[in-house]
Amino acid sequence: MSEGDASSSPGAAAVARRRGGTAAGGRRPAEPHPAASRSLLFDYLEFQRELGIETLRWPRGALDSLPSAPPPAAAGQTAAAAPSADPAAALAAIRADLGDCTRCPLHSQGRKQIVFGDGNPRAELVFVGEAPGADEDRQGVPFVGRAGQLLNDMIQKGMGLERSQVYICNVVKCRPPENRTPEPNECATCSPFLFRQLAAIRPRLIIALGSVAAQNLLHYRGSLASVRGRLHDISIGDFATKLVVTYHPAYLLRDPTQKKAAWQDLQMAMSYLGLRRPSR
Ligand code: SF4
Repeated sequence: MSEGDASSSPGAAAVARRRGGTAAGGRRPAEPHPAASRSLLFDYLEFQRELGIETLRWPRGALDSLPSAPPPAAAGQTAAAAPSADPAAALAAIRADLGDCTRCPLHSQGRKQIVFGDGNPRAELVFVGEAPGADEDRQGVPFVGRAGQLLNDMIQKGMGLERSQVYICNVVKCRPPENRTPEPNECATCSPFLFRQLAAIRPRLIIALGSVAAQNLLHYRGSLASVRGRLHDISIGDFATKLVVTYHPAYLLRDPTQKKAAWQDLQMAMSYLGLRRPSR
């Protein structure tokens, strides 16, 4: 299964307040000190090790220009704050690493382009779907087809947020042929880039849309029903956050009777984020 600016709102304001930004998803100006590079490099290497990557090749001399020590922490700052200093730059670096990816079979099965992700790099809420569909493959943006319109409704009418406030991406970045479910090896190959996206954004909450997203984020094999209805703890490197599982919008289009259950999932997410239901 693959997928398909509004005015300010109570939910928008709540998220903006917590992020210290603007209700329109504006970003705080943040330029990391150059000496943070070595610390960020260590974080990156540690993260790669936790992903099971034991060997990395670096061009000779590539590390020579790095400062010898990280800067002292400013008053009130903790080391854990460093990775979120510039999530937009971190996402751009991850996209650059992905390149014109040929790492899994999906690169040669009719994809038009890689669909990396869309939204606010400082989002408190990230939606993770399964894979791009035909519309997404054409436009290079996740969730823009019919399923995307339903997801927009869930975000805007259901949660009182604007799409530009959240971040949206998929487990695999290339469209599977005939919108088939991505194979486990394809998910395993592509998902390290998803985890790096999540570690860069550091959202307070992730909503997994459908069983492929849930299985890859929670590392289990089982039914969607077995993981719905509760907040999950997940860790990505040194980053810990919460996750809610709900139905994929494409599934809800096929079986609208499950919309009530999906709404319950969204309400749980809203409660955790401190969002109020928008007035109608
Ligand atoms: S799905 Fe991911 S790993 Fe596979 S080719 Fe596309 S970007 Fe690369």
